[in-house]
Amino acid sequence: MGSKRVTSKYNMTSEFKAIIEKAADFHGHLGPFLVLGVRMGLIGVRELGARGNDEHLRVTAMTRDSTPFSCIIDGIQVVTKCTIGNRKLKLIDSPEIAAEFELQEGDKVTVTVNPTTFNRLRGSLLSENIPPEEVWKLAQMVASMPEEELFIIGSK
Ligand SMILES: [Zn+2]
Repeated sequence: MGSKRVTSKYNMTSEFKAIIEKAADFHGHLGPFLVLGVRMGLIGVRELGARGNDEHLRVTAMTRDSTPFSCIIDGIQVVTKCTIGNRKLKLIDSPEIAAEFELQEGDKVTVTVNPTTFNRLRGSLLSENIPPEEVWKLAQMVASMPEEELFIIGSK
């Protein structure tokens, strides 16, 4: 393995922790993919300068149509209030995990899970029959990982 970049840990504010708890309550459990979705939603909203309930926000979530990949959708929904039910969230079955956030005015940002980082983590993220305390640790890891390591943020 090559050199290790020094990156700052993500600052987990109490607000962030509260959103994670809310997402876990909605989703039924806490896991790393749910946390990924929450973070993607927060980045999208931040980058567009929209608040979570901005009525002009629309989201396209791209992920595999199976758990645990699809768990990201609930994280995104809780943060952005763009849901399947209110038709503000579109789903695209995709091998890569990404989300496009768009305001009706035309501003757009895409948040993609860094494939290099994901491939490094996928062994632990996707292992079968992990005990709940391990899943919780993985969620914590994804929650605290530096943003620049975990995501690629791009405007189109
Ligand atoms: Zn899940």
